[in-house]
Amino acid sequence: MQILDGKKISAEMKAEIAAEVNSIKSSGGKIPHLAAILVGNDPPSETYVAGKIKSCAEVGIRSTLVRHDTSVREEVLLKTIKDMNDDDDIDGFIVQLPLPAHISEEKIIEAVDPGKDVDGFHPVNIGRMVLGMPSFVSATPAGIMELIKRYDIPTSGKSCVVVGRSNIVGRPVSNLMSLKAYPGNATVTLAHSQTKNLPELIRNSDIIIAALGKPEFITADMVKDGAVVIDVGITRVKSEVTKSGWKLTGDVKFDEVAPKCSFITPVPGGVGLMTVVSLLKNTLIAAKRKQAH
Ligand code: NDP
Repeated sequence: MQILDGKKISAEMKAEIAAEVNSIKSSGGKIPHLAAILVGNDPPSETYVAGKIKSCAEVGIRSTLVRHDTSVREEVLLKTIKDMNDDDDIDGFIVQLPLPAHISEEKIIEAVDPGKDVDGFHPVNIGRMVLGMPSFVSATPAGIMELIKRYDIPTSGKSCVVVGRSNIVGRPVSNLMSLKAYPGNATVTLAHSQTKNLPELIRNSDIIIAALGKPEFITADMVKDGAVVIDVGITRVKSEVTKSGWKLTGDVKFDEVAPKCSFITPVPGGVGLMTVVSLLKNTLIAAKRKQAH
């Protein structure tokens, strides 16, 4: 059994990105610039955005944070997006989700210039990804594919079950795994809450990608020997052994599943760390594309 070490791979990728940013700087080029829009002060969103800004600083990418109150009107948020679309200095930007209920996430996502949509949420980017064309792939699926690639895990002809069909994780990763490419060429089943015989489906799969947000849902009896297990789930659960009284738990019962696997991601230390670095990589790609035009 080998651990898919998100800490090690994300550090390697950060070093690669930092080296590229450095060489852009030393040749007098414009420093890549990521902007983020944060509406309200939802604690998880605050944490995610702070993590993204800190990671930008680590690799030398410039970042800007624009905040709006929870009560912001949709037109005001759309105007901020328009300004960022028009601002030549900004290479890519994100609107941290979720948004308050009075704002249409669909409208907001569609307002972002697809060329600056480093979250890869715009329908144009999703359409291009599904067709196997160059696109911004959203950070978590991109991070998963990178982990698979860097550990040279065979995917061609393998059966793959993705549990969870959200637009930001399950659906895109299921598309990527089925593309005629590496990683890809897998025979993919996309499972969700209405799927029948889920334990059996998982048991018959060579590759299991768990993205349902149900702590320790996948147990050893659902996993075949030698399976590859990618655990996307992150849920804060109460703990009596940590100082804070909380711990982060994945969708896989790690201790009992790990001994059966060929490869497995831990939580924390797996997919989560790959997600932030993938956003940095998309920002660098956006900056390089802009310079090339
Ligand atoms: P969503 O809540 O948007 O989607 C959950 C999906 O799981 C839905 O498709 C749902 O089915 C399905 N599901 C729920 N319960 C079951 C069940 N019992 N059996 C089968 N399918 C089920 O979640 P996200 O995709 O946003 O996130 C999933 C998990 O990944 C969360 O723990 C989240 O915190 C984590 N996450 C981690 C990231 C990282 O960087 N590592 C990034 C993003 C998310 P249905 O569609 O039928 O409701």
